Amino acid sequence: MPYVPMKPLSAVAQKLGVAHGAFNINLLQQVDAVIKIHEKLRSAAIIQVAEPATAFLGGNPDFLNGSLSEKALGMKRIAERVKKLSKASRIPVVLHLDHGRSFESVKLAIDAGFSSVMIDGSSLPYEENVALTKKVVDYAHERGVSVEGELGILAGTEDDVFAEESSYTNPLLVVDFFKKTECDSLAISYGTKHGAAKGANVKLRKEIVIASLENLRHEKIQGTLVSHGSSLVPEYIISEINSLGGAVSGHGIPLEQLREVIPLGISKINIDTDIRLATTRNILELYKLNPDYTTNSQVYDLLKANPKVFDYRNYLVPYLEDLLAEEITNPELEKIVKALENAIYEICATAIINFGSVGTAFKVEALSLEEMAEIYRGEK
Ligand SMILES: [Zn+2]
Repeated sequence: MPYVPMKPLSAVAQKLGVAHGAFNINLLQQVDAVIKIHEKLRSAAIIQVAEPATAFLGGNPDFLNGSLSEKALGMKRIAERVKKLSKASRIPVVLHLDHGRSFESVKLAIDAGFSSVMIDGSSLPYEENVALTKKVVDYAHERGVSVEGELGILAGTEDDVFAEESSYTNPLLVVDFFKKTECDSLAISYGTKHGAAKGANVKLRKEIVIASLENLRHEKIQGTLVSHGSSLVPEYIISEINSLGGAVSGHGIPLEQLREVIPLGISKINIDTDIRLATTRNILELYKLNPDYTTNSQVYDLLKANPKVFDYRNYLVPYLEDLLAEEITNPELEKIVKALENAIYEICATAIINFGSVGTAFKVEALSLEEMAEIYRGEK
């Protein structure tokens, strides 16, 4: 089945009052696992990469400082892989750029074949955010590619996205933003937070979701809303990591609060931190179960030296070249790849079931990018 834009998935999610999890990955080996678990649970799949992930996929271990050409190479690699595997799959699959930073980088993703992009102009003055988003929409829609904008600022740190304090989305501006930019969906700030340290007393402002969607409906705008910074940071994974020698802490978004906002109009929920945590737990566990691998292992040494680190890119750097070349030639690396895949299965399955997208794959209209472009042009 097909490689599709985001819009048909958002439409179905909104109609059914469910949400799709959108899963951030950093390695080609994770793509197959994301698609497989969505096939088993019969949900459409959203695979997303942020710009630092594209630099990592482009071969730069210093991924936070990647160049545009490294990002372009990483984008090409991931787009080729996702397109190839989605053709062989029965479920609709989306490849989305998370937190696009500039028109240039978003254009690179679209040219590489992404079916959906985010342009994050949320740190700009309002009118500049509108102008940048509109410029991206014009380029993307001509090619059938969906666009997510952002209004309001989330606190927290994730890769190259950082803000000290949050500023909630103003629901009165949501309609204006959709009207002026014609974007398809909008990431709003309503109490979620990037990273693992979301605080022990998260209180989502569901009134912002309700008011935003009500304003949109009143104006007959079809836009949908997106929840960033929404990892659950499961307590069991934190304690497992720490019992295996790690030293991580954190609090996620309480599941019951997320489940409350889904039927109110949140159609896409981003999950990144949870995959990093589960991967790190799996890799620590693999060394515990296979102590032979710990001698002469650079990965193990990096993990031991940095017990607070749970971003697997940091300690998998010694194997980056092998992973990119897909030369999985030793038993330690074979087990690491399994650990990456198993983390994807665990976190995606949890989200697919919790957010309600289980069993909805075949309700999604399987539009190609060309068909979507015709719809945007008003020809269909
Ligand atoms: Zn985000």
